[in-house]
Amino acid sequence: MRTEPYAWIEESLATIHRADWYRSVQKIHGLPGATVLLEGREVINFASNDYLGLAGDQRLIAAATMAIQELGTGSTGSRLLSGHRELHRELERAIASLKQTEDAIVFSSGYLANLGTITALVGKRDLILSDQYNHSSLKNGAILSGATIIEYPHCDVEALRTKLSQQRQNYRRCLIITDSVFSMDGDLCPLPALLEIADEFSCMLLIDEAHATGVLGNTGAGCIEHFGCTGRQLIQIGTLSKALGSLGGYVAGSTAMIDFLRNRAPTWIYTTALSPADVAAALTAIKIIQQEPQRRIQLWQNVAQLKQVMQQQLPKLKLLSSSSPILCFQLPSAADALKVGQQLKSADIFAPAIRPPTVPTSRIRISLMATHESTHIDKLVKALSSI
Ligand SMILES: *Cc1c(COP(=O)(O)O)cnc(C)c1O
Repeated sequence: MRTEPYAWIEESLATIHRADWYRSVQKIHGLPGATVLLEGREVINFASNDYLGLAGDQRLIAAATMAIQELGTGSTGSRLLSGHRELHRELERAIASLKQTEDAIVFSSGYLANLGTITALVGKRDLILSDQYNHSSLKNGAILSGATIIEYPHCDVEALRTKLSQQRQNYRRCLIITDSVFSMDGDLCPLPALLEIADEFSCMLLIDEAHATGVLGNTGAGCIEHFGCTGRQLIQIGTLSKALGSLGGYVAGSTAMIDFLRNRAPTWIYTTALSPADVAAALTAIKIIQQEPQRRIQLWQNVAQLKQVMQQQLPKLKLLSSSSPILCFQLPSAADALKVGQQLKSADIFAPAIRPPTVPTSRIRISLMATHESTHIDKLVKALSSI
């Protein structure tokens, strides 16, 4: 019997539809910001990772434009061939200075930073302990590395300790990997306890600061600064594409670690260097983060305002515990989450439904920005109350 070799794709799509898991894109017009034009109508934007409102900032736009005029649009090659510019090094030094590490290295995305770093650090003879709710890039980096992977229950340090005491001695190197702010929940990893366990069992610790950089800590250095762990030995990964309003990823750590990654991370060696525009925008964003702490202060005031009003006026909402500008509330099914997302959109609020397989249970995810105004938050709460 001959079967049509691509027929399964349509069947698979039909299954995705039946489960209410189908996804499609929504068109945004114009500059990013606290309000955006979504498919032609103005909505208040609670869907963005642009926490400090920098992606549409004129200073980033000017820096990117100037870099294009001076250095061109494409970087033309990998960093080790023709793609390396002084601007890349300047950005890496700025990241190291923000993170207070010896050095840093920039990748073409945060996803690639995780894939490249994890595969460089561990292999077949090694063990990875991974938080169950980690970002896809950490999970896939772990799989790609060929190491044995043990997932531990979300933020459960006792379970982690038990696994390590049972398994650690069977492996050469061991790497614990975790989001710092969990991107689809909004809570934080228990960093001080993780550092202690890493120490006790002689493990490396890698934390992904994608949603924390520019957001958490007094100077915006992230979760590490928030917990007072600056200067501790660990591997910090992050992105230039969230609070920094640009595109790209980074790793910050010791001189030796970064030097090693330049020699061993395949997603850095075999891909084209970041474009001058992306680098210049990110560099300007870091300067702004350091010079304008009021942006971060405003962001946290917005978080406090929304939390307070929600607790008062919407006590029945199942809010997930959060220590970040990401606030989620749970809904019984994917269909319910989609419906609420649609109702919010009709009320000119853009806050998307997040469904399996991204997360185990469906929810609406609200992310706050420094540039949201009080009236934006009031409108969100009013729309939620009427649903
Ligand atoms: C967004 C995100 C990434 C990926 O970063 P990109 O630069 O968008 O590729 C990695 N890890 C976490 C936790 C993220 O939220």
